[in-house]
Amino acid sequence: MTTESPSLSYNLAMDCSPRRKPTGDSTLRIIPAGPKATIDRSKRDFLRAAIALLAGLNLPTTSLAGGGRHGVGGSGQRVVMVIFGGVRRAETFSPQGLVNIPHLSGDLLSQSLFYRDARNEGVTAHFNAVSSILTGNWQRVDDWGKLAPTTPTLFEQFRKGLGAAQSDTWVVASNKALTSLIGASSAMDYGPAYGANVVFPKQLMIAAVVNALRTGRSRNMADREKVQTELQNMLEAGNYEGLGWSVFDGTERLDPRVRDTITEAIATFARGGGPTSGDELTFLVGREVMRKFSPRLLVVILSDVEAAHFGSYAMHLGGIRTGDRLCYQMWQEIQANPDYRDKTTLVILPEFGRDPDGSSTNGFFNHRGDTESTRNTWMMALGTAVDKPRIIERPIRHVDVCASLAALLGCPPMDTQGVRLSELRV
Ligand SMILES: [Zn+2]
Repeated sequence: MTTESPSLSYNLAMDCSPRRKPTGDSTLRIIPAGPKATIDRSKRDFLRAAIALLAGLNLPTTSLAGGGRHGVGGSGQRVVMVIFGGVRRAETFSPQGLVNIPHLSGDLLSQSLFYRDARNEGVTAHFNAVSSILTGNWQRVDDWGKLAPTTPTLFEQFRKGLGAAQSDTWVVASNKALTSLIGASSAMDYGPAYGANVVFPKQLMIAAVVNALRTGRSRNMADREKVQTELQNMLEAGNYEGLGWSVFDGTERLDPRVRDTITEAIATFARGGGPTSGDELTFLVGREVMRKFSPRLLVVILSDVEAAHFGSYAMHLGGIRTGDRLCYQMWQEIQANPDYRDKTTLVILPEFGRDPDGSSTNGFFNHRGDTESTRNTWMMALGTAVDKPRIIERPIRHVDVCASLAALLGCPPMDTQGVRLSELRV
């Protein structure tokens, strides 16, 4: 049965928990300790390095020239998509979960088109889940991203169909289970020539720290041990699901001046102390990409929640809270940035849920079960495509997202397993 709630009196199965008031906490707190001046300088140096790093990637120079060159085709609309890792309904949009998502439930829900039942009916592993969302077809390729999706991605449709430039399409991802093959398919007549820029900020940062230690550049650091501890923590935290470490090969071809800048800035960043998160870094780089290159289609993939694989429920919840805040900050950035304000649709969705408590796969640790808890998630849309905020009870599928976003961007209709979501205004 498909029904639509007439209003936003969101009733999460008899939810009586009070909706939280917006906290207004939009301040980035990357480094929680230390004098303010140090924080600001570290952050600034780091951002400068991140930009230098982006500019030094092995991308066609024409695509990055002039701060973003855009093709002329398309609707003039922009799309920003934030994809979480796996989160269950129990820890998010449920009575007991709302405490973990104060921004999504308190600040954004009332402005949104909220699909209460968004389903992953494909492979519930990261690379397949994300590539199914990005292609509109259930992908069953290698779980670790050794093979590209087999049908064209939204990036390729946008670029080939409308002549959009490479600088118009970006993926910025935390998730180690992804590879650069997420940016383009292996489909005939498409492929990397029409693919997105793909950046893994955490991998690049770690590579830079490794390089600094290896070449002895760290000898001037005030506290080398701390940098090494930080590095160790990042490496351990990033070792999701036993995937072997592989450094994004773009780093090996960086201009030496760019590499020095990065190395020094990261040393400063690490020396600032305090824990940081891969998703914070991914958000910062994504935001800088918006400011410098102004892409019309940006996909940001967060994965702090995947700390669940180590069995830490507290870290998993921490990841949800970080993602909740970063989604809100992304919405604020869209409102503040004249290139995006009033012409952008922000879509937020998890890749899948996680296994139910008491399951043979260790409950929230994993996302392997063929269960509602693993397959059933939600999706939120904000911005220009939202005619009227409301909650859609009708189940939708992850493969429906691509065709809908393609239509927003003005792409010709795509031949996909998914169908357009009629509620999104084109
Ligand atoms: Zn996972």
